Amino acid sequence: MPSQSPPPAPPVLPISEHEDEIVAAVDAHPVVVVIGETGSGKSTQLSQILHRRGYTRRGPIAVTQPRRVAAVSVSRRVAQELGVPLGDEVGYAIRFEDRTSERTCIKYLTDGVLLRESLSNPELKQYSVIILDEAHERSLNTDILLGLMKRLIKDRASDLKVLITSATLDGLKVSKFFSGCPVLNIPGTLFPVEKFYSTERPTNYIESSLRTAIDIHAKEPPGDVLIFMTGKDDIDKMVSKLEERIQNLEEGSCMDALVLPLHGSLPPELQVRVFAPAPPNCRRFIVATNVAETSLTVDGVVFVIDCGYVKQRQYNPSSGMYSLDVVQISRVQADQRAGRAGRTRPGKCYRLYPMSIYEKEFLEATVPEIQRSSLAGSVLYLKSLNLPDINILKFDFLDPPSRESLEDALRQLYLIDAIDENGHITDVGRIMAELPLEPSLSRTLIEANELGCLSQALSVAAILSAEITLRSTRSKDVGGKRKRHELPDGSGWGDHVQLLQIFESWDQTGYDPKWCSDHDLQVRGMKLSKDVRNQLCQIIQKIAKGPTDVHARKSRKNDPDYRKLRRALCVGYGNQLAERMLHHNGYHTVGYRAQLVQVHPSSVLEADEYGKFPMYVVYHELISTTRPYMRNICAVDQAWVEPILKKLEKLDVNRLSGGSSAPKDSEPLEDKQVNAPKKAVDVKQSEVD
Ligand code: ADP
Repeated sequence: MPSQSPPPAPPVLPISEHEDEIVAAVDAHPVVVVIGETGSGKSTQLSQILHRRGYTRRGPIAVTQPRRVAAVSVSRRVAQELGVPLGDEVGYAIRFEDRTSERTCIKYLTDGVLLRESLSNPELKQYSVIILDEAHERSLNTDILLGLMKRLIKDRASDLKVLITSATLDGLKVSKFFSGCPVLNIPGTLFPVEKFYSTERPTNYIESSLRTAIDIHAKEPPGDVLIFMTGKDDIDKMVSKLEERIQNLEEGSCMDALVLPLHGSLPPELQVRVFAPAPPNCRRFIVATNVAETSLTVDGVVFVIDCGYVKQRQYNPSSGMYSLDVVQISRVQADQRAGRAGRTRPGKCYRLYPMSIYEKEFLEATVPEIQRSSLAGSVLYLKSLNLPDINILKFDFLDPPSRESLEDALRQLYLIDAIDENGHITDVGRIMAELPLEPSLSRTLIEANELGCLSQALSVAAILSAEITLRSTRSKDVGGKRKRHELPDGSGWGDHVQLLQIFESWDQTGYDPKWCSDHDLQVRGMKLSKDVRNQLCQIIQKIAKGPTDVHARKSRKNDPDYRKLRRALCVGYGNQLAERMLHHNGYHTVGYRAQLVQVHPSSVLEADEYGKFPMYVVYHELISTTRPYMRNICAVDQAWVEPILKKLEKLDVNRLSGGSSAPKDSEPLEDKQVNAPKKAVDVKQSEVD
């Protein structure tokens, strides 16, 4: 039997050479900022250093990551370096997946999971050290954690250490935020990277990247190529075209080629392929999203192709609308991308944009997520912490969100009963905060439990959380192939009902993977929805008062029109309600930000025999693509809408916000969005990572 290969020796990375300096700073100060080049070892080594130096005797070290894919990948690497099974001494926890045990002393977790843990243990007493990694990403949750850490170290000054690490963050700004804490700069070993600019923006950046990649392969010496694309669709296109062109290369190259995609929704077994060294005499082409900018360091890269764009999800509080836009990257991002070429030797970066665009059009740094997100979930979380002196509008943020988006969050929470008219969190709000779901879905589950349709609502919430992509029943099949069976159609009530029917049909097959592939449904996504559902069941059974009925197979019988489920959805999505226009099938949203919207073409909601759509619908989200669309829609009854309309009449935002004034330095969100969207696209957040 072949013997198992020993774990690789831990690499000597720049950070390891500063071990004593780091430990001395951590010994002496409650908060330390560590700034170091991407790949210097912050994510993989800092936790190991502190573990070696005895910090885990008092409790485990938590290392947060803004991206799920990084939490999984880095923990796997650290477990490997320490020669221990993943989930034992080293583990990870991401939403709906916990691979840790009682023995875990280095725990990688997403920033969202740490926030959630702080609900049941506000002082995070279980941890001796908290490392907020990748703080430069300025994710919404990391920004909230920064504010929280500031409060926490006052209470736990003697037994908690906080480290904030970043590749590019303005160290002085963070140090000022933490009353002048020390900033350690770890010098990197970056080699010079030569930059080549295009004379003008290409009309098709995929085509232009392809040409550049082929040129490199034909003319340049060995070295891997990292190509930055904006999302999964572009990457898939690029990978297949690149493979094809390499095969047909007329003059050929003296090297073989291997093309690898890298993005957040790639199955883990495919993700790890990028960390394996290239086979002999082979050039790797890694086609990645901005996950390869700083989150995941791929070794061996010598050439970078940078299209200059990134896919960014933005929320507009005045319309309640999300758009997922392809926008220009910032200068900091462009420099990070270029830097990936110079880790092991001098490299080259091909920028598919002119220098003038880099200098004059790119923003200096990316707008923090907190200034481009809906804050309902975060505000509910902060309210549920019961901090004695907290006023949401005055919470200590590194960069405050606009007053408009905080007020928008308060209004939303009020309409779904999470806070009362004075802005105080309600009992319902407290239960909602405990569920790892966005506020509308958690409110739906609570109402469903009251109405006796929890089982159905759980299936809907699970399948929505797993972000399963359904092919539109109205769109043509790719490749002209007919599906063998059609999906259920929602019985005229809309998409949530359809999602429920899909889950129930699959459940009835005993969760047969073939049923999923026969219906063009991703088996992995469907399995995830089943796991998510199981976990939600456990959580809600723990927190719900009274009996709960959570079995998927028992649903539907007593509710042929799905009235209970639709009613629960109406309460949960009370802040996302739309009314049909009198004379046509357009809708306008109801409430403080009324506007015209359309039914998304992918919706299964249909007009009745008179050609009319339902009078009232609730929607899961508003997205702006070619025009404003409601996505995932459910028909609701007028009678259920009345209480929401009454609440809207009473809504007084001054009372909700405690009558306080806005933080002085908050600016309207719109002022920040100078990086004008290039084109709007319609994809999910997971595709961005
Ligand atoms: P930083 O956090 O400073 O960007 P990391 O600690 O992530 O640096 O990376 C340090 C080194 O570890 C890099 O050479 C990187 O390629 C390697 N590495 C990180 N994660 C993995 C992994 N999952 N598999 C293999 N190598 C990895």
